[in-house]
Amino acid sequence: RSKDEGGGQHCTYEPALHAHAEERRQLEFAMRHALERGEFSLVYQPVVDATSEEVLSFEALLRWTSADHGFISPAKFIPLAEDTRLIVPIGEWVLRTACLEAVNWPAPVKVAVNVSGEQLLDPYFAETVVSALAQSGLPPHRLEIEVTESIFVRDGTTAQATLERIMSLGCGVALDDFGTGYSSLGYLRKMRFSTIKVDRSFVQGAAKDNPESLAIVRAVVAMADSLEMSTTAEGVETELELEVIRRLGCKKIQGYYFGRPMPNLEARNLFAGYGALPQQELPQGTAA
Ligand code: C2E
Ligand code: MG
Ligand code: MG
Ligand code: MG
Repeated sequence: RSKDEGGGQHCTYEPALHAHAEERRQLEFAMRHALERGEFSLVYQPVVDATSEEVLSFEALLRWTSADHGFISPAKFIPLAEDTRLIVPIGEWVLRTACLEAVNWPAPVKVAVNVSGEQLLDPYFAETVVSALAQSGLPPHRLEIEVTESIFVRDGTTAQATLERIMSLGCGVALDDFGTGYSSLGYLRKMRFSTIKVDRSFVQGAAKDNPESLAIVRAVVAMADSLEMSTTAEGVETELELEVIRRLGCKKIQGYYFGRPMPNLEARNLFAGYGALPQQELPQGTAA
């Protein structure tokens, strides 16, 4: 397509800008083949109960190591995948893989999968969720979809309809990075999220005694409580952050303090002493 050719615009030549565009073009090219080349993998980060510290779920996080470009951070390639809509097939791979891997964790442990607005606007997305659950045998209540406020900015109605269909299956839907988007609170009236994830910036601020951050976390927790939604604090790294967040009443904690994102095998090993880890990968209900 001629999208990058500037449509007859006359621009002054800027080497830095050009290098940036060129890098993007190369990454995009590499990304078009990354799925078939098996360059993607998932890592899983634990989310623990704020009181009992027991692992409730893992968030699946996508990693890409390109044969041509090496490791590329999600902060770089996710936006590119969204712009090019490659996030639709890539996101489907994430969803299917996460369900297939999570089905072998101890039964109550859930998996959370990040989903972009672009995916929610895809008319087949809800059916992809149905299919991923059926193919893996993962019970719907063990899958949580994570979305950000940004999905309500563009085409809120379509996104909402898709999410409602997914909720009707029994899956949870979490609102990610809460407080960093631009949308109004109006959609909280229409949609029953299972969890609100308080962005790490507020966690950090609260632990530094920043009065605005403290007030915001307190208000989000109170609001979530009265709307019967749970809360997760994102990016808890230190004992101090943990204590402050606990005191503020967040229900769940995620962050380097309890665990970094790890490969599936390591995640499974976390449960070695848990008693519930199946010895063999039998379908549910067939074990003695
Ligand atoms: P997110 O969904 O908010 O995920 C949390 C990010 O915070 C992850 O970064 C995680 O590694 C990082 N994190 C967790 N605990 C801590 C902590 O204690 N301190 C710090 N500094 N960081 C922490 P990651 O894996 O680089 O992912 C970045 C973002 O990329 C994600 O933010 C999500 O928006 C997006 N992303 C990742 N995987 C996927 C995916 O499969 N699909 C889509 N659509 N987006 C994804
Ligand atoms: Mg997330
Ligand atoms: Mg987040
Ligand atoms: Mg965040």
